[in-house]
Amino acid sequence: MGFFNKIRENFARFMSGRYGTDQLNSALLWAAIIIMLVGSFSGLSLFSLLGDVVLIVVLVRMFSKDRYRRQNENQIYLQKTYKLRQGMTEWVNRMKNSKKYRYFTCPQCKKRLRVPRGVGSITITCKGCGHKFDKKA
Ligand SMILES: [Zn+2]
Repeated sequence: MGFFNKIRENFARFMSGRYGTDQLNSALLWAAIIIMLVGSFSGLSLFSLLGDVVLIVVLVRMFSKDRYRRQNENQIYLQKTYKLRQGMTEWVNRMKNSKKYRYFTCPQCKKRLRVPRGVGSITITCKGCGHKFDKKA
């Protein structure tokens, strides 16, 4: 058996029963990278320290054998960031579609509405509350 196979096997054995990675961990990993980048650009040692701490949390969670607790943390993270992540997805979609669509907010219920670009002046009927208003798209 080759040297690398042996390492791979040992690593697999080491990782078995351990938690591994989840959404919270990847978010933390990104946070650590961003914090470290900010730290190295600004020269503030506090940031590098904070980045190290976050990275340690990522590793501890990854190698943890307490799956139940880690899953719980991940669930809490997903719940707490649900709105934010929704907002991010929506924002990314808007950026992607900004050439094709114009976005309006219903004056009555604040629901976001999408209209194809270049249709001229139109009356928009809100899908949420049925409110009608005029816009140029
Ligand atoms: Zn509405």
